[in-house]
Amino acid sequence: MRLILTNAQIWGVEGDTLVIREDKVEKIGFYTKIAENFPGYKVVDLAGRSVLPPLHDSHTHIHSLEVWSVDLRGVRSVQELQLRLSHKVREGPPFIVGRGWDENMFDGKETPTRWDLDEVTKDIPTMIIRVCGHVAVVNTALIKLMEKAGILEKILQAREISKGDFDGVIYEDEIADVKKLLPRPSMDELKALIQAYLKKYVSFGVQYLNIMSVGPDLLEALGGMTNTLGMRIGIYLDPGAGFHRPGSLGGVRICGYKDFADGSFGGRTAKISERYKDKNTSGVFLLTDEKVAFLTQAAKEGHQIAIHAIGDEAVRRVVEIFRKKGIPGNDVRIEHASLVTPDIMKELSSYRPHIVVQPHFLVSDWWLTNALPKHLLRWVYPFRTMVENGLILYGSSDYPVEPLNPYLGISAAVTRGLLRCVNGEEELDIDEAVRMYLRDPCFGASLIREGSNASFLVLGESIESISPYDISALRPQAVFLNGRFIEVGEDLLNQLK
Ligand SMILES: [Zn+2]
Repeated sequence: MRLILTNAQIWGVEGDTLVIREDKVEKIGFYTKIAENFPGYKVVDLAGRSVLPPLHDSHTHIHSLEVWSVDLRGVRSVQELQLRLSHKVREGPPFIVGRGWDENMFDGKETPTRWDLDEVTKDIPTMIIRVCGHVAVVNTALIKLMEKAGILEKILQAREISKGDFDGVIYEDEIADVKKLLPRPSMDELKALIQAYLKKYVSFGVQYLNIMSVGPDLLEALGGMTNTLGMRIGIYLDPGAGFHRPGSLGGVRICGYKDFADGSFGGRTAKISERYKDKNTSGVFLLTDEKVAFLTQAAKEGHQIAIHAIGDEAVRRVVEIFRKKGIPGNDVRIEHASLVTPDIMKELSSYRPHIVVQPHFLVSDWWLTNALPKHLLRWVYPFRTMVENGLILYGSSDYPVEPLNPYLGISAAVTRGLLRCVNGEEELDIDEAVRMYLRDPCFGASLIREGSNASFLVLGESIESISPYDISALRPQAVFLNGRFIEVGEDLLNQLK
């Protein structure tokens, strides 16, 4: 392949033209100066479109339970939720795992109960996980299995109720216990699931993934993959996966371990510095001494440690704990860092951990105005202040909690989504927002330079002139990975012929 891509806006370089030879970027410069040196190359006019290095998703998940999953995002009532479950019931699965409901979107804002599930799922054990992943509802068939496995009693005791009164709503570690009761998909099913997941990413021009909370099954499947479609995959293990050395494993790289310091805003379990407006709690802090000891050891053996911390108090404690343990900020990732008040911002800018954010929460978390006191609301997702304080932000989806499409995240960081009226002043410009998606804490930054592997994407438009409200509709017209065309839109295809 000998190709001149010209009339392009190329990210981070001087010039409007990219010369490609076989799988390498041969030359970058201005067409009028360099074109004559490359006779016989096919010239493609990109008509001012942007060319970017491949994108990164710094925090995403593959759920092995997805084999039986039902997407419950966007349902507006318990009836609609039941309808979606009933479609799955007809396939006759051994289990059903629904994902993504949010009672804030229901007219009556009521949390579904086991009895709502029973009406449609009958004797198929079913669990539906809230959009945040920290709250779930189980049906009666699953409660029976929980009883047999000896995990129901603890749940009833904690609530001081009898079995008949249990509404099926469970939280945090209880969810993890119930997940252990579900049968495991086969290795082949898992590998097929991973391939489909990678394909989706490639179509958006994402080449680098940091997959979080990887357990033993997924580790085996990922470690045994030979074809990753040219993607670079970094994984952060769940401590339950046991101890592994950092570094390559088959086609993937083990980058570190991930654990939780708190819950979610949705469940009012994110640890904040005062009480929630609508519930008499300030959340929970989940990092036990035992977990801290494990993570500290992992960091000393060369792992990065990724800590989920959403509330300001959780973020503050995480910094305090690992700083005291002598772990450098560069070995620590804080996942979400959703609420960061100015005093904690100061701590972060002196400790300098990697800050992995999910801008699309700005669209989904519009109901935060009900949950947080006003003076705290000012400091949710404070991206602009973070950037101005020199923090390094990494963009990510937290898929399947939020959509996998990175352009929706970039768009949210620029437009501030539905929370715009709360702290619109925290918006980023499009260059800053895109930059968050051009790096990750495991592999670093991707760039386009002479002599490097030809990996880049051609967007449908120029990001320099696009209206903020059109960003969410951006798509790559072409994706090149390691010198190969992976995806090509019709426009470009005609020119390449
Ligand atoms: Zn996550």
